Amino acid sequence: MDETQEPSLSLGPAGAGARGAEYKVLARKYRPQDFTGLIGQEALVRTLSNAFATGRIAHAFMLTGVRGVGKTTTARIIARALNCIGPDGKRTDPTIHPCGVCEPCIAIAESRHVDVQEMDAASRTGIDDVREIIEGVRYAPASARTKVYIIDEVHMLSKQAFNGLLKTLEEPPPHVKFIFATTEIRKVPVTVLSRCQRFDLRRIETGELIAHLQSIATKENVKIEAAALALIARAAEGSVRDGLSLLDQAIAHGEEGTITAETIRAMLGLADRGRVLDLFEKVMSGAIAEALAGLGELYDRGADPLAVMQDLLEIVHFLTRVKVAPNAEGFFDGSSGEAKRAAEMAGKLSVPSLTRAWSLLLKGLFEVRDAARPVAACEMALIRLAYAADLPPTDKLFRDLLDSNSNPPLEGRGSAGSADPSPKNPSRPLADAHGPHDFSTLPQGEGGRLAVSPQPATNAAPALHTLEDIAALAQAKGAPVLKVHLENDMHLVSLEPDRLEFRPSARAPKTLAGDLAQKLKDWTGARWVVTLAREGGAPTLAEQKRTAKAARHERVLQEPLVRAVMDRFPGAEIVAVRDIPTEDVAAPTPEDGEE
Ligand SMILES: [Zn+2]
Repeated sequence: MDETQEPSLSLGPAGAGARGAEYKVLARKYRPQDFTGLIGQEALVRTLSNAFATGRIAHAFMLTGVRGVGKTTTARIIARALNCIGPDGKRTDPTIHPCGVCEPCIAIAESRHVDVQEMDAASRTGIDDVREIIEGVRYAPASARTKVYIIDEVHMLSKQAFNGLLKTLEEPPPHVKFIFATTEIRKVPVTVLSRCQRFDLRRIETGELIAHLQSIATKENVKIEAAALALIARAAEGSVRDGLSLLDQAIAHGEEGTITAETIRAMLGLADRGRVLDLFEKVMSGAIAEALAGLGELYDRGADPLAVMQDLLEIVHFLTRVKVAPNAEGFFDGSSGEAKRAAEMAGKLSVPSLTRAWSLLLKGLFEVRDAARPVAACEMALIRLAYAADLPPTDKLFRDLLDSNSNPPLEGRGSAGSADPSPKNPSRPLADAHGPHDFSTLPQGEGGRLAVSPQPATNAAPALHTLEDIAALAQAKGAPVLKVHLENDMHLVSLEPDRLEFRPSARAPKTLAGDLAQKLKDWTGARWVVTLAREGGAPTLAEQKRTAKAARHERVLQEPLVRAVMDRFPGAEIVAVRDIPTEDVAAPTPEDGEE
């Protein structure tokens, strides 16, 4: 029954998933059925319990919080609490502990109760849509105790629609309750807000989310490394739904045995933290050639340049915190070898050099995000940082700047020039080429004037000709969850400018089309129409990649030299196929290494 409203989930047989038709995405399988199942929302549960106990239940609720935090789920639980009749069918009052087995409870959970209406204001924004509700409010419920209207993304309603609704909210009939949900509370008119009891659903803490995911993995008999769960939880950014959806993907990705952090990193396009720490160490010691080689290696292993920049920033943040508060926790697991190495490194670096590294990396982050070739921008940022590591401390630079207010640019360049001859820098010629460029961006005073960007027209809408383009954009914009879905869950049917049709895989979350349309609008400024198809569509990007990899493997096997080796060493296996960079390691061309 539910399936008829969620076509994306009823396409089991067409999906590539090994579990086929009976596979139920984790987010649905483990959707909480009552308030005890809601994780991290104790404040809401306490307030509601009190209200139910004293019989002072508001006639309108406003649930707000980031996407995927459980607003719709909470709304349905409230609707059940209002309408549960108990296993024996005799309950006549609302209860904070809906039974979950009576007819109203089941019907509401499956979104098919006639008296519990759900409306998505994102797609129905007009006064006519609201008028339907206003008309309906006048009539008594058909079978429930209370008529419940759940309006999702209520901030999307037009002004007219809000005004229409307002009259009903002012004098609601006793048999009606409204539950509004929104991700953007500031867009909801105060006149509406003031008539609702508001609940702020908070983001789930990473630790809580890890524990939750772990308990579900255990129930599913899935073995997964703690570090892998931590990566998922961090990428989910406090959203239970995203966390579960990534866990779904991880299960699909994972070979037999335990799902490793390595698998998750590859899936999310993240770099190995230990290696990023190596990279940072090399950069800060001025070993640029080695640093660039390290970056090339990370890139070859699938790490996204933007994620590398983010990790570097987190490392700098962590090191700085370690310096000012030695018990700082965070980026590295407290007991790990990396944490010890980081602590040692923090001892060697000064706070001014760390804060300088922070501002250079932050600038680099934006450049990487907007660059046509992110890895090149990433290399430039590292080179800049490596040379800056030899500069006098920032505070001195600032003082110099302030002292000679009349010609700050010259002062900035002067410092740069004096740093170049440093014996630590192995590649002097590069310094000459890039030195002035780099350091001109250093002191804040002139940063604005000389804000260098290799691609001046970066703010123009990016060209999105293929699904890969969109996946790359999602990654570049820091939306790893969406990127994972784009790669694994979409069978592209057609893609035109501002129009996309796809068949979702069995694992695709039902919000995928809507999420994608919203993000594409945010990123391109154009309104995108994203539609679902029931059949057809190309293999997913992940499937295509696997096919290509297998084909390449096969080609290599046919090489006479390889064949000779295989003949000579029976039982030999090809573990990986890699291209050897044609130039020396200082100038890796990772793009060529892709395929
Ligand atoms: Zn019930």
